[in-house]
Amino acid sequence: MNENNENKKICNGYEAMFTFLNETDFLEHLKVCDECAREHARMQRVSQLIREAKPYIREKQKSRNILKSAAAVFVIAFATLSVPLCMTGVSVYDDYVVQNTLTVEEMGMPVDEYGFLYVE
Ligand SMILES: [Zn+2]
Repeated sequence: MNENNENKKICNGYEAMFTFLNETDFLEHLKVCDECAREHARMQRVSQLIREAKPYIREKQKSRNILKSAAAVFVIAFATLSVPLCMTGVSVYDDYVVQNTLTVEEMGMPVDEYGFLYVE
């Protein structure tokens, strides 16, 4: 009993004990520390739940992968479609922006006979 109390004294909480003790020492500690034993039982239940949920989680991941490939298809389709869109953009630029941009002469700047900006 005295030894048990001795062991209880060095309990730093379940997580700390689980992290820092080796498996043998940890299981020894569980025998003398009710708190950790209770926590450990809860953890065992959780990992049991995770084991049971695994097929379901995997199923979920599969559908997420389907979503991912759908997104990839969308990106590829968008990239393919946006190339002709860019081409259209270029011809719009040629047709409207360039033709409506004032030349140096039209801006009222001094120009030489070649239409270049004239600097004295
Ligand atoms: Zn403990």
